[in-house]
Amino acid sequence: MLNSEIINWYESNKRDLPWRNITNPYNIWISEIMLQQTQVATVIDYYHRFMSNFPTINDLASATEQEVLNHWQGLGYYSRARSLHQAARTIVSDYDGVFPSSFDEILKLKGIGVYTASAISAFAFNLPKAAVDGNVYRVLARIFGIYELTNSSQGKKVFQTLANELMDNAAPYIYNQAIIEFGALCCTSKNPKCEDCPIQAQCFAYINGEQSSLPVKKKKIKIRDRYFYYLYIHDEERFLLQQRSDDDIWRKMFEFPLIEADNKIDLVDLIDSEAWCSFFDDVTIHVKDHLVSKVHKLSHQNLHIEFIEVKVDDISIFSSLISVDRESSLDYPLPKPIELYLARR
Ligand code: SF4
Repeated sequence: MLNSEIINWYESNKRDLPWRNITNPYNIWISEIMLQQTQVATVIDYYHRFMSNFPTINDLASATEQEVLNHWQGLGYYSRARSLHQAARTIVSDYDGVFPSSFDEILKLKGIGVYTASAISAFAFNLPKAAVDGNVYRVLARIFGIYELTNSSQGKKVFQTLANELMDNAAPYIYNQAIIEFGALCCTSKNPKCEDCPIQAQCFAYINGEQSSLPVKKKKIKIRDRYFYYLYIHDEERFLLQQRSDDDIWRKMFEFPLIEADNKIDLVDLIDSEAWCSFFDDVTIHVKDHLVSKVHKLSHQNLHIEFIEVKVDDISIFSSLISVDRESSLDYPLPKPIELYLARR
């Protein structure tokens, strides 16, 4: 049985941690919240200090938020401390200071998600709840060869169901502790210790050399911010366009002359910039208007677009650019923000 092998491994290899072998839900709760986004080695000292300052739920609830934050200082993610404090007050007001003992009630507390509610339910109340954290996703994905995305709702269901099934014949406390510790120490994210692993013969990833491909996570799309300063340069009748390149958004479409930047630039600094000065060189210009458009969102980019209206006496001096009037501009495909800008004029 897989879970008995992991539990045997756990009994011989587990670390001696201050929140281990305790069943007090308050202590377990504090440790689980601290362990979110934070390394075990960092948490140990904070945990001891926090528990000696706030040894009970009542102590935490009666402290001021400032006191709680002071004892959290350095751990980061301060919303965790605020939520702890609010949840402690809820436990005092709604449950007479006694930590609720059902999964559903625990889940309702501020700052507690499915994983933490499962962990408290299993560790403090021995309820049959499989706590599935990043360690568990990794272990299950590798052993069973599951390529479902761990951060999709479908994937979460698949892993949760499997974890529940595996726990079936084991005590919830020991099963959850064992598989989480196994993931943290043996089936690690990088360089898993497969040669010392008691279940390598049953492990899909080991047999197929797929350790580095599993688990699979949906990559978060990185959104890039770009700052476009469009120069609407015109004389009495005509204005200027240029063609975009074919290796960027709006391929080969036509736009106003553009100064692009990686950050927001104030108009005064823009007019002072090298790009602006080299563009206008010795031309006499009149900056007439400045319009900040709303952010134009594309799938991977946020475009922060501003239009600067510049009047010149004779547009023909910009001979390398295309000069058009309103009618002839209709022959040129224009990106939406440019089209909207012209329509508003
Ligand atoms: S054999 Fe390697 S990849 Fe498979 S469970 Fe063991 S440590 Fe993880």
